[in-house]
Amino acid sequence: MMIIMKVEATDKQVEAVVEKVHALGFETHTSQGEERSIIGVVGNNPITAQHQFVRMLGVDRIVPISRPYKLASREFIKEDSTFPIDGVEIGGKGILIIAGPCAVEDRSLLLENALAVQEAGAHALRGGAFKPRSSPYAFQGLGEKGLEMLAEVREITGMPVVTEAMSADQVPLITKYADMIQIGARNMQNFNLLNAVGESQHPVLLKRGLASTIEDLLMAAEYVLSHGNRRVVLCERGIRTFETSTRNTTDINAIPVLKAQTHLPVVLDPSHSTGHWQYVTAIARAAIAAGADGLIIEVHPKPDEALSDGVQSLKPERFAELVRQIRGIAEAVDRYVPPSKVTKK
Ligand code: PEP
Ligand code: MN
Repeated sequence: MMIIMKVEATDKQVEAVVEKVHALGFETHTSQGEERSIIGVVGNNPITAQHQFVRMLGVDRIVPISRPYKLASREFIKEDSTFPIDGVEIGGKGILIIAGPCAVEDRSLLLENALAVQEAGAHALRGGAFKPRSSPYAFQGLGEKGLEMLAEVREITGMPVVTEAMSADQVPLITKYADMIQIGARNMQNFNLLNAVGESQHPVLLKRGLASTIEDLLMAAEYVLSHGNRRVVLCERGIRTFETSTRNTTDINAIPVLKAQTHLPVVLDPSHSTGHWQYVTAIARAAIAAGADGLIIEVHPKPDEALSDGVQSLKPERFAELVRQIRGIAEAVDRYVPPSKVTKK
């Protein structure tokens, strides 16, 4: 439930309510809006205790949260959440573009890729060092060596780095090297991992599971948020359907649905949602038109030689054309693509 404080409520009155909530064994997440404070109360059925708060000084009213996810809901926080990822803003009017290889393969290739996507307009670099491959015989990633390469390229380009953690015990290592932790589709309901990234307080890119509903995705986000980590970005990356002409089916509906139900930023991954480079640009355009806050896109200078996901990777020049088109779409929906950082070199 939410305890909505009066506009004129004093800090002391807010504190008294928070203390009482804690004394009853519930947790609080306070949102300090421009006008008033809203105290989110989470725990096992807090609504049964609502009568204990209605007459407290400064309390305006009590509102139950009807959705199973609380901290992620628009009912709790009305305004879009925005936060920086190493100085690059997500969730505001600017569109965030994350690009780079599926997997980190080699230092010079990664640097070439990063410089190319940055020049084309990307704001952050992606690249997996730990790869969740469907086959145990496929390339599994370079591990910590890959993380070192990402950190080195981050130093050279100034671009924040996004990379995947596959298990809770990898989280301290990933946070040492990367600016944002990716939770892959296959791990969306790995609750130990969600708890660990929640505790890390590091920005999180949470991908939707292959066969997960939008509500499942929001409940997964709730795990991270309930540890006090508010920096969660949701990622639609396509879902499994009966259709076989694409790798997955882009659930474009998920974008406006998520934007209505949560305050968290939403991005789309058209590379995994289509699985073919030929369709990536069209679906990226659709995502921005539908209200996405950003894109995550696989790019490779030599897709034919890529160790993973070459079929869906764009060459840098095609990616540059995609960004050019996205600028136009963004403008049409009253958004914009901020300039990328200039390479320090
Ligand atoms: C990836 O980003 O390379 C990846 C493995 O994505 P997903 O978890 O969405 O399949
Ligand atoms: Mn991939």
